Amino acid sequence: MANSVFAACGTTIFETMSRLAQAHGAVNLGQGFPEGLEPPALIERLAAAAAEGPHQYPSMMGLPELRAAIAAHEAAHWGRANGAEAVPEAVMVTSGATEALAACLFALIEPGDEVVLFEPLYDSYLPIIRRAGGVPRLVRLEPPHWSLPRQALAAAFGPRTRVVVLNSPGNPCGKVWEEDELSFLAGLMEAHDAVAVCDEVYEHLVYGDRRHLGLAGLPGMAARCAKIGSAGKVFSLTGWKVGWVVAEPALLTPIAKAHQYLTFTTAPALQRAVAWGLEHQRDYYQGLAGVLQARRDRLSAGLARLGFGVLETAGSYFLSADIRPLSGGGDDRAFCTRLIEEAGVAAIPVSAFYDSAPPTHLVRFCFAKTDAMIDEALARLGRVFG
Ligand code: PMP
Ligand code: GLN
Repeated sequence: MANSVFAACGTTIFETMSRLAQAHGAVNLGQGFPEGLEPPALIERLAAAAAEGPHQYPSMMGLPELRAAIAAHEAAHWGRANGAEAVPEAVMVTSGATEALAACLFALIEPGDEVVLFEPLYDSYLPIIRRAGGVPRLVRLEPPHWSLPRQALAAAFGPRTRVVVLNSPGNPCGKVWEEDELSFLAGLMEAHDAVAVCDEVYEHLVYGDRRHLGLAGLPGMAARCAKIGSAGKVFSLTGWKVGWVVAEPALLTPIAKAHQYLTFTTAPALQRAVAWGLEHQRDYYQGLAGVLQARRDRLSAGLARLGFGVLETAGSYFLSADIRPLSGGGDDRAFCTRLIEEAGVAAIPVSAFYDSAPPTHLVRFCFAKTDAMIDEALARLGRVFG
């Protein structure tokens, strides 16, 4: 009756946990969305854009003003080794990074192609790859440091490798790829003539003295990379669902063919507001990592005081914590259910980010919340585990 790939999927863990959190009045540190960080000037701009119009279909590649703003943002922050700068023609606007990922994967994968990707991984990758007929080759990053197992990565490449999916900074583990790791991957891609879909939605959310590096910025890589960004993450407005793909024409053209049949286009008022924001709200997104680093540290310290084994996280909205000191032997899913029901706090079991045989001792907390929410969550956890 139905396609077997999607029929076999459950409802996403994020939806499931958010609905449970609502039902129990829990503080939601599960699904990754920020609270209290929405930039008011951008919201006003959206209201003005909605009043002014237009309201009909924009061009499928995106409004010219937004394509130009995304190209300028890309050039200002993430250069290319060949000195070439991203140009508006290299940009396609999508309805969120989720649609961008689907457009890239449907466009680049031929049935039977192998796709290299890294566990733990964001939940939309595998169903789309499988629906496209791709064969996943999973390379596992191991906690607590999530460092790159180079031998396993080299072994995952073969004659049928066509695509790599790279997520840095990574969800859920907050891994920020180092230049030598990217270079190692780049060498394998060149040797096997592979392309990469680079999910960089957390590009501005890197902490401490670490820096974000895009794979496309490495020598020879620009032509092999489709880089994905999301205004939802740049401006803490995840419900807006405005994303983009930046790629050279040979790569972008087939991706645009997939996009034209997925969503075709994105609401024009949202596009106009995001274009304005990329140009006029730089201070906002350049300051966001500083704000979120303080939230990360607040939640980490509080969880550590309660006995969680908090793992280091260099980027994204998320930290992971080892629950073994507190779980009494149960797995991460049982623990998350208990957290909601007994403590009134929602988190996400990290096992949800694996295809099979996952580790079951880690849970993910989102720290992109208000100080008051973080403190309330810690106080509630303290009543159960204190
Ligand atoms: N990639 C990653 C790694 C994410 O965490 C998310 C989630 N929010 C997305 C893509 C999807 O982004 P968007 O909301 O723009 O579709
Ligand atoms: N990216 C968000 C997270 O990891 C969730 C997005 C979604 O719910 N689809 O929590």
